[in-house]
Amino acid sequence: MTGAARAAGTTPSADLIVIGGGIHGCATAMYAALRGLSVTLLEKETVARHASGVNAGGVRRLGRHYAEVAISQRSMEIWYGLEDFLAADCGFNVAPQIRVIETEAELEDARRRVRDLNEMGFDHEVILDQKQLREHLPAVSDHVIGGLACLEDGFAQPFHTTFAIARKAKAEGVRIVETCRATGLSQSEGVWSVETAEGTFRAAKVLIAGGAWGNDLSSSLGEPVPLKDCAPMMIVTSRLPHFCDAVVSAIGRPLSFKQMPNGTVVIGGGRLGRADRTTNLSEILFDELHLTAETASDIFPIMREASIVRTWSGVESILPDAIPVMGPSARHEGLFYSFGYSTHGFQLGPGCGEVMAELIATGSTGYSLDAFAVNRFAA
Ligand SMILES: Cc1cc2nc3c(=O)[nH]c(=O)nc-3n(C[C@H](O)[C@H](O)[C@H](O)COP(=O)(O)OP(=O)(O)OC[C@H]3O[C@@H](n4cnc5c(N)ncnc54)[C@H](O)[C@@H]3O)c2cc1C
Repeated sequence: MTGAARAAGTTPSADLIVIGGGIHGCATAMYAALRGLSVTLLEKETVARHASGVNAGGVRRLGRHYAEVAISQRSMEIWYGLEDFLAADCGFNVAPQIRVIETEAELEDARRRVRDLNEMGFDHEVILDQKQLREHLPAVSDHVIGGLACLEDGFAQPFHTTFAIARKAKAEGVRIVETCRATGLSQSEGVWSVETAEGTFRAAKVLIAGGAWGNDLSSSLGEPVPLKDCAPMMIVTSRLPHFCDAVVSAIGRPLSFKQMPNGTVVIGGGRLGRADRTTNLSEILFDELHLTAETASDIFPIMREASIVRTWSGVESILPDAIPVMGPSARHEGLFYSFGYSTHGFQLGPGCGEVMAELIATGSTGYSLDAFAVNRFAA
């Protein structure tokens, strides 16, 4: 949609305006449309341009903050059927996600975590002993003493997935307006006005799903959160003989690691580069990247034979407790937030989209969102 054709009128143009065309904005827009809402989605650049299009594709329940576990479980149920539902290839594969355990103290932490999850009613994470771990990871270093695993997690292609969700949203009637930045929001007599260079869009409800930029808009509405820009960094290596079917991370150090069918290894998982929200760019920090490569070689000695072929990073953001802001505004009727996914929001996309759409459409959801409240930092 271009130019004057997309200028907005003076009456409510939709039931819901979603700001942000990442996986969270697109998924919420799609589920809201499926609930019968008319939805306009505004994206300042193009759909999937940022974290949702460039991430590592880890579809991981393993190791989640306890507050996220229930929604992450629901999201996984959706992931299993997502390609059929979207009639699209999202590159989704079920694969074990395994966190290697290198010390007795880490093993004790992992056992405690599994016990806690069991008490919460979840049994998706299990401990692997040395022998079981080597059945999954025969090339793992001798010093590794076990693993914490979620054997039915997986991975997917991020841009394929986010585009497919956006296409389905469009097919359900969502109006997606790209290169259209929301510059200001205000509310009058129950109607929200969203200012853009293309004109004013109006709706009874607004969702801010602006990723690393979410806090710019929430702050302008009196609800700032301490969101910090960051840039997770990724490495792709030269091809190696097949040695790993799982997605591997470590309990004690930042790592995420998977071998692709063509033999290359994709490594990421925690070491951060520099992000600049104002230019929309991210930068690789090579000293940090070097530590990631070293960790991978420590855990899989075969990696010493690989060379780095390319690297990339993307603009993302982290909150101090590393969980998102998700739920209603604490100050404004008809305003909702879903941003700050703190480097692990891809897997949560479908589940959070479904939950947010339910909340926006009906006023409530069966999931507790207390831990994600926008005003939790004010206290
Ligand atoms: C390199 C990398 C690897 C990662 N690996 C994983 C992984 O393996 N597994 C996992 O679960 N997660 C991973 N993540 C994190 C995950 O990608 C993000 O948490 C998730 O994609 C966030 O989605 P989002 O929709 O909230 O944000 P985004 O994808 O950033 O989308 C937000 C969108 O809002 C738009 N926007 C912002 N402000 C405005 C405005 N004012 N007007 C209009 N549009 C606006 C932006 O342009 C952007 O497109 C990784 C991230 C990176 C960068």
